[in-house]
Amino acid sequence: MTTLTFDSLNPATGEVVGRHPKHTAADVDKVVGRAEEAARWWAALSPAERRRRLLDYKAVLTRHMRELARLVHDETGKPVADATLEIVLTVTHLDWAARNAQKVLGRRRVNTGLVGLNLVGTLEYLPLGVVAVIGPWNYPVFTPMGSIAYALAAGNAVVFKPSELTPGVGVRLAELFAESVPEHPVFQCLTGLGETGAALVADPRVAKVAFTGSTATARRVMAACAENLTPVVAECGGKDAFIVDADADIAAAADACLWGALSNAGQTCVGVERVYVVDAVHDAFVRELSARAARVRAGEHYGPITMPGQVEVIRRHIDDAVATGKVVTGGPGAVRAPYVDPVIVEDVPEDSPAVREETFGPTITVRRTHDVQEALDLANASAYGLGGTIFSRNTRRAADLARRMRSGMTAINSIISFAAVPSLPFGGVGDSGFGRIHGADGLREFARPKAVSRQRFPMPGMNITSFGRGPADLERLVRLVTLMHGRRKR
Ligand code: NDP
Repeated sequence: MTTLTFDSLNPATGEVVGRHPKHTAADVDKVVGRAEEAARWWAALSPAERRRRLLDYKAVLTRHMRELARLVHDETGKPVADATLEIVLTVTHLDWAARNAQKVLGRRRVNTGLVGLNLVGTLEYLPLGVVAVIGPWNYPVFTPMGSIAYALAAGNAVVFKPSELTPGVGVRLAELFAESVPEHPVFQCLTGLGETGAALVADPRVAKVAFTGSTATARRVMAACAENLTPVVAECGGKDAFIVDADADIAAAADACLWGALSNAGQTCVGVERVYVVDAVHDAFVRELSARAARVRAGEHYGPITMPGQVEVIRRHIDDAVATGKVVTGGPGAVRAPYVDPVIVEDVPEDSPAVREETFGPTITVRRTHDVQEALDLANASAYGLGGTIFSRNTRRAADLARRMRSGMTAINSIISFAAVPSLPFGGVGDSGFGRIHGADGLREFARPKAVSRQRFPMPGMNITSFGRGPADLERLVRLVTLMHGRRKR
């Protein structure tokens, strides 16, 4: 195995949190080989056995919650309380995936229709084999586990390459799994930089890649996967919009908006970045938002910017917004690396970087709109489409707006609530990626449908798939199909 190492650092203090191997292509080769064997063993266990072990892993994770939260805090800088919340949500997803895998994926009979009257159709979802998970640093437990838990529950082995900023968390997640499943390395962690991840996704034995990170890196990962026709599920961040309708509860909307934008220092793929407020309540909402923002402090309510390079992106967006818009809160002085204070800017042009590009920082742009339709049109005019929020007291209008929002998930009168519901799928459209984690769709994402049709008896007088077929066989079929499908609907 490799001897080269790299350090993970506490972004708030610069202290070394841990030292980890820079795994090479040769290491990847060995680990994927072991994963293949482990995948065969894991897939051959009964669903009840897998469920029992996954629920045991859930218990182990829960009992190590405080230790893990401290490690997340050390590697990302986020408050221990936020790290704890992330683990709590992860535990609920793991529980759901373990308990529902058999129901969602297990063998079932399907209706074979009149033409297939003599057949029995069965469908089941089989494991893929080895799933590679490329994880991000912003939620180093919750986000990768959204793929890992569902892939394991679907009967796959997992090789996880965490971000180079949070390797310790990844290593610990895999170590804790081995407490529940000591027999085979069903869940392994490889550490290293981008090259380690690149070697992993290029391995032809990897049956699927689950990627979370930037759109640019997703393109590189997909290009590598194209060589082997390896399928990918990609979650690439967003530029989520928050819409405030004329009848919204303004205090609740401002509270949710602020938390959605500033928690985790804005380093949330489904964080609030753009706010569209209907004219009638615009002034009241902005007053409420800025009053509340004045009480939020970087370093107290949220942590530092985890990835040092991101500070320059945030600074560029703030400078651009301040130059073209009207400052409500903060300003260029908000950037005190590694911390960034809250920044709210109004009336920034819709084609500026602060409105178009993912900022991944504690900043919001706010725009007044004529009505809620204009708010939705502006919200939808983005290359991204991950999540979004609507605050309105009109349940029917909110549901209609949510449906027409071009995104994978929308929360109504709450913030990011969809992520806490394990049965709801999570993923985006456009530059936000494709495929889904979480829920039944998330389980099926890591399985292949297997369709089987069994003939129970020969269909009398309709011997279609044989060279012994006569004109009368076809005539009977045409008559049957015309009877079934030939009637026009008016
Ligand atoms: P990247 O997309 O570069 O990295 C994401 C993951 O991919 C990391 O684990 C990284 O490993 C890995 N990786 C990098 N290159 C390759 C490769 N060629 N093959 C396989 N894996 C690779 O994101 P960054 O962390 O650099 O963040 C950049 C931006 O991405 C952020 O500013 C933010 O806008 C967005 N982002 C979005 C996230 C989301 O939740 N959707 C999460 C994180 C970032 P390593 O860290 O070792 O390079």
